Amino acid sequence: MTRPAISPDRLSHARKAAAEAGLDALLVTPGPDLRWLTGYDALPLERLTCLVVPADGDPFLVAPGLEVPAVLASPAGALGIDVVGWGETDDPYAAVAARLPSSMQRVALANRMWAEQVLRFEALWPDTTQTLTSEVLRDLRMRKGQDEVDALRRAGQAIDRVHARMAEFLRPGRTEREAGRDIATAILDEGHVSVDFVIVASGPNGASPHHEVSERVLEAGDPVVVDIGGTTDEGYCSDCTRTYTLGEPPPEFTTYFRVLHEAQLAACAQVRPGVTAESVDAAARGVIDDAGYGDAFIHRTGHGIGVESHEDPYIVAGNTEVLEPGMAFSIEPGIYLTGRHGARIEDIVVCTVDGIERLNTTDRDYAVLEA
Ligand code: ZN
Ligand code: ZN
Repeated sequence: MTRPAISPDRLSHARKAAAEAGLDALLVTPGPDLRWLTGYDALPLERLTCLVVPADGDPFLVAPGLEVPAVLASPAGALGIDVVGWGETDDPYAAVAARLPSSMQRVALANRMWAEQVLRFEALWPDTTQTLTSEVLRDLRMRKGQDEVDALRRAGQAIDRVHARMAEFLRPGRTEREAGRDIATAILDEGHVSVDFVIVASGPNGASPHHEVSERVLEAGDPVVVDIGGTTDEGYCSDCTRTYTLGEPPPEFTTYFRVLHEAQLAACAQVRPGVTAESVDAAARGVIDDAGYGDAFIHRTGHGIGVESHEDPYIVAGNTEVLEPGMAFSIEPGIYLTGRHGARIEDIVVCTVDGIERLNTTDRDYAVLEA
């Protein structure tokens, strides 16, 4: 698998932002920040891999010697970063420290760094304040460039192709797990390199937003919430929910689904530059509250998405972040009736100069499949 090139601008912008924030260096271990900065999707190993971005100097990557070929084969290999391999008996933390000033004031550690690594770095520089890379990378990652929006659009189209095939997978008599296994294969077949999650929540399981799959057998009349996502070879994530019914659903389902559909449309209509993230949540929640289902909408309206399935900005009450062109996030209100069934509609959208672009474009209404 060859991943496309990553612009070296990401590293230079990160370095500039670190300097402006009064940070001496960013220390980035395997995870989404490393993927975003370099395109290197490193294995999360106990052996230290760490990209160091000094505010005042060239970035370098300390990696186990046996991983160096993988680094060089990844897009990181084309960035011209100095790659420092370490042997099995070397101290990789010393290799990091040797290239940084001994008297650093503030250093930012990747938000997803393991605690054991955090403590090793703290021991190296006991008088240095540790903070999080999100202090500088959050804004950079949240405002997607055109290349990132294009990659997210391709991810959206890939997951839409899986939803378009759902009649192949959901049939009465099959278990959620059987359907989920086929859906996972389809996620790979339709343009992803990994499956991030498969939720097939039938009947009463639909009332649990993060139910995955179970041995429950699908029955005629079931509403089925299908929330699926993967990562493409470009390193960007998809995430889309549609609700299906096997034959005609219960009358109360059709009643609240209409409310849900209206709520999702209202939230999408609210998206444009200059409005707050929380106002998008309020738009969906207002419709559901007014219809009397407020207690059944038990989660935020959405989350940002990019090289991580969940990232800033979060579409939630209390988040006064102002939307700007290039911000990408989900709009996924749900209504969940405990013990009975539930429904969710989720699209990934991008805030554009004049409003919104939907990256998932299949019909948002529930699809009635053969029972
Ligand atoms: Zn989802
Ligand atoms: Zn989502």
